[in-house]
Amino acid sequence: MTTFPAGEQTHQAVLPQQPALESVGADTPGSRDETAHGLPAIARGTVGGHGRGETGGRGTSARRRHAKSAATAAQAAENRSGDAPAHHPSYTGGVGASRVFVLAKDGRPLMPCHPARARELLGKGRAVVARQVPFTIRLRDRTLADSVVDGVQLRIDPGSKGTGLALTDEKQEADEQGTHVTVRRGLISIELQHRGDQIRMCMRRRAGYRRRRRSANCRYRAPRSNNRPRPAGWLPPSLRHRVDTTLSLATRLCRYAPVTEVHVERVAFDTHSMSSGRRLSGTEHGQGALAGTTVRAYLHTKWNSACAYCDATGVPLNIEHLSPRSRGGSDRVSNLVLACVPCNEAKGSTPVDTFLADRPDRLAKILEQARAPLRDAAAMNATRWRLTEALGTLGRPVHAWSGGLTKGNREAMGLAKTHTLDALSVGRLRHERGDAIVRHPGQVLVAKAAGRGSYARTTPDRFGFPRLHRARAKQHFGYVTGDLVRATVPSGKWAGTWTGRIAVRARGQHSLTTSGGRINVSHRNLRLLQRGDGYGYGSRPEPSRSTAGKSG
Ligand SMILES: [Zn+2]
Repeated sequence: MTTFPAGEQTHQAVLPQQPALESVGADTPGSRDETAHGLPAIARGTVGGHGRGETGGRGTSARRRHAKSAATAAQAAENRSGDAPAHHPSYTGGVGASRVFVLAKDGRPLMPCHPARARELLGKGRAVVARQVPFTIRLRDRTLADSVVDGVQLRIDPGSKGTGLALTDEKQEADEQGTHVTVRRGLISIELQHRGDQIRMCMRRRAGYRRRRRSANCRYRAPRSNNRPRPAGWLPPSLRHRVDTTLSLATRLCRYAPVTEVHVERVAFDTHSMSSGRRLSGTEHGQGALAGTTVRAYLHTKWNSACAYCDATGVPLNIEHLSPRSRGGSDRVSNLVLACVPCNEAKGSTPVDTFLADRPDRLAKILEQARAPLRDAAAMNATRWRLTEALGTLGRPVHAWSGGLTKGNREAMGLAKTHTLDALSVGRLRHERGDAIVRHPGQVLVAKAAGRGSYARTTPDRFGFPRLHRARAKQHFGYVTGDLVRATVPSGKWAGTWTGRIAVRARGQHSLTTSGGRINVSHRNLRLLQRGDGYGYGSRPEPSRSTAGKSG
């Protein structure tokens, strides 16, 4: 028994997997099309497995609903996995059930599986629940060595308030004309909601207390010497939090799924530091070894990878100073163009107005274009740089992409603008050649960074005066705030079974957040499902059409 009707948008703190696990479409033998849009699937050879990371299983085919008994290959290829053909005129992206993480017997990750498959494995006793959120099962009879693991990609779209993470499965498949196209499927989408604003508020509150203490009626204290410089690469706590939480979630996903590569959207160009021509530090910029390559990439975009003097493309291009350095020209990006080797050598150290004296129209064009900054290149933010660097510690190849590419992919696929669909669109997708995103999960797991409680022992009211004192201990009767529990209330208005996140009380009547509201439950009636990990989990449906907006 659950505390919420299946398929309904659930409360923040309620187990998000329930709707997917109990949804009708995935589990009813008669309903062959979960997506309800009734489009035939792209013809493909690999059907039936849902990429669940196992070689033909013993005794699993008998009740398998999704495949082999189908009479023809065409029928077998029919759309039961939520895939939609991108070449269909009414294509808007297919919607499939969010996949379930699967671990091998030895705890190592296998390919995520369909929730129906997970139910079957759990029902037969072949698997056990390893984790409630994100829902993860562990097989009891299969090791990694027995399984085929294709690997999944982790795609990340970092944002200021929320970060989208998507696990995708990318395969080369033959379309109807027999040409090979890359088909990308979204397996699991997670939206990570940051608490940077809260952290900033806490820091300001602390600063306020300190400021008051300095001017309060206390004895005089001489100022300390200012011997506390910020280390190189310092980020404010609210920004560092974004890097840390994203990295920690990515690390966990690498534990639950066979992630082979990481794709992250890193806004393309560092326009600020490039145009100022000096090195910036701290929040302004992470520069380092990438500085040169960034300028080159920027110039390639700005000048369309062509020689500024003769429009040659497909040849090696040098970075060329309009006003030569030997004559006092700067390294500012407005003084730089791309030039092919012959043009570069011909120009040598001649100033550009002398070199192009006989071609005044081109000179005017170059000078105008050089002065104008690249419009759509948003200032690179330090957080993204740090995140990309930090993701390197995962031990997987990290590919950094630009926001423009993501946007192009998402719009070409007709997907709505959400962090998770943006994450799904990160990375190269040659849609003009038929590459497509054919499926995205219908439900998104929302992980809201909730913190792990406060260090401060006093809770102030809104005027900064002490309102209450917190207990020293965080654990009461075996429970900590943030734990996921199942409560069995024997009698009263709230009689029944409830699942949710608790806030502990020292007297043992813990507060449980359910979809119906908050209830107080004795610790005696609680059962621990999962220890709190600093995140509150919920879920939301993913919009399938490009109508909704995104904030943050
Ligand atoms: Zn040239």
